[in-house]
Parts: sequence; structure tokens; C-alpha cells
Amino acid sequence: MDAYRVWIEEGCVACGVCAHYCPDVFCLQGESRVRGEAREDGVTDGNYYRKSIINANLRERAAGDIADVVLDCPMQVVRWERVEQAVEALVDEPVLAA
Ligand code: SF4
Repeated sequence: MDAYRVWIEEGCVACGVCAHYCPDVFCLQGESRVRGEAREDGVTDGNYYRKSIINANLRERAAGDIADVVLDCPMQVVRWERVEQAVEALVDEPVLAA
């Protein structure tokens, strides 16, 4: 599955829906947070600034629950997006004239 990131925009009212339906990814610490255990950077926060990627071992398993949370958050502040993989163009070595 493609890499993706999840973050919380401003406006969370700490209702707990996200943490209830997807506890591997979300937890409440005053407001909703994206768990460090679920992220490549290991930091627990809203992931608003860092936009860290969800760990590879969770992506497939958590995707359905995250999609539900994005739809069901009453404040519509949970966001996720696929991460485009950077592909370096292969450039032929220049042929030097003898
Ligand atoms: S579902 Fe939305 S409003 Fe409720 S705790 Fe999660 S992010 Fe906050």
C-alpha cells in the first residue's frame, strides 16, 4: 500500500471518536493526537507541522479505520493524504568524444 500521512487540523473538540475507532493511530491528550508509535518520526502530536508518514506495518491494517474517522469526525478536522514517492529520473552518462 502507498505511504500516507494523517494529521489533525485546528478545531478538535476532544470527542474521542477517532481514538475509539482507531486506537492504533489516534489518542487523546487534551485534543486528538497521532500516536508516535504509528508514525515514522515517533512523535505524538497533531502531526500538523511535521506531516510524518504512518509506519509501513500499520498502513494496510489502519487504512479502513482512518477513512471512517475522516468521515465521522464531527468537526471534520482529521486529514490524510497519500505521499507521492519521489522517483529520480535515470540520466544516461554523457558520451564524451575521444
Ligand atoms: S473525532 Fe475529530 S473532534 Fe473528535 S477527538 Fe477526533 S479529531 Fe477531535
